[in-house]
Amino acid sequence: MQSTALILREPGRAPVLETVTVADPGPGEVLVRLAASGVCGSEGHAVHGRSAVARYPSVLGHEGAGVVVEVGAGVTTLAPGDHVVLALYVPCRACRQCVRGDFHHCVGESRRLNTMGVRSDGMTRFRSGEDQLFPLMGLGTLSEYTNVRAEQAVRVPADIALHALCLVGCGVTTGFGAVVNTAGVSVGDTALVVGCGGVGLNAVQGARLAGATTIIAADTQASKLTLAQQMGATHVIDVTSTSLEEGVRAVIPDGVDYAFEVVGNGDLVAQCLGLTRVGGMCVMVGAPPPGAIIPARREALMMERRLVGCRGGSNIPQRDIPRLAELYSSGRLLLDPLIGKRLPLSGFAEAFEALDHAEVARSVITFDS
Ligand SMILES: [Zn+2]
Ligand SMILES: [Zn+2]
Repeated sequence: MQSTALILREPGRAPVLETVTVADPGPGEVLVRLAASGVCGSEGHAVHGRSAVARYPSVLGHEGAGVVVEVGAGVTTLAPGDHVVLALYVPCRACRQCVRGDFHHCVGESRRLNTMGVRSDGMTRFRSGEDQLFPLMGLGTLSEYTNVRAEQAVRVPADIALHALCLVGCGVTTGFGAVVNTAGVSVGDTALVVGCGGVGLNAVQGARLAGATTIIAADTQASKLTLAQQMGATHVIDVTSTSLEEGVRAVIPDGVDYAFEVVGNGDLVAQCLGLTRVGGMCVMVGAPPPGAIIPARREALMMERRLVGCRGGSNIPQRDIPRLAELYSSGRLLLDPLIGKRLPLSGFAEAFEALDHAEVARSVITFDS
């Protein structure tokens, strides 16, 4: 199958549209025609050479939704015409974590290879002439068509708009999951979310949906704080005019039950930990650079505060994607306000520019066909 796709030949260069060949679906694979794909921060990391998973040349895009057009041998769970959201990973089902049922902690080799866009036979599903191309996260959703493992395509009801549901693939599931899965926020809890981009805003609405009664959102941009209020923040802190410490203490002097750092700054993670109550929890959702130190004071941990990491919101795709689709369908999960720009694939440069300037929560590429 020929497909127009956004290809990043090497980090530091601008991505370009190319006509590529997508492999026919082999055993256990499905061919998907994309309807929409979000442009997530991880695309920016790949472009700027900061991605831990991208291999080059890379087929960009990993936050997609579309329609199954063909299934490979042995696929019984999906059929042509099914609407699907593409998931971030497929657990190996063999590593120690998987056999315990902790699929979100999977470290298996098949997951690692698939995340780099490589099949178990060492080949990829995209080619350009003689070159193998590596789909980001095994997905490559900034392409008219993609071929993925069947377990990586999660069926959703056909009456829900795919241009909104695509966001559930990565940004929503990570932010919502950090609150609901990783932290386990429950009714009456208090929460602080620092950083209100595509992931942080979903941590805010995750806290609302979990029943948190005080939700403090902090950011440097007034427009994002307005969105945070729409998502359910009860208080906002513009950290360009008020310090985070002062802003939080003014609302909850003894600290919050849960703090979520969604920026990726080690010092800020430590500060967020210090803003939790005795016995509280800080979740590091953002990813500080490799080797970064988190300078937590001993006093913080002595009081049984907990600092925990977060991998994709501890998401288990087959569990989380359908429930997020249902929450959107019933009007409780807000996705439309998160879409700052809707662009055709040919308008990708505008989406990447918005990403670099953190202008909008999400740009979504929609495909005509
Ligand atoms: Zn992403
Ligand atoms: Zn595993």
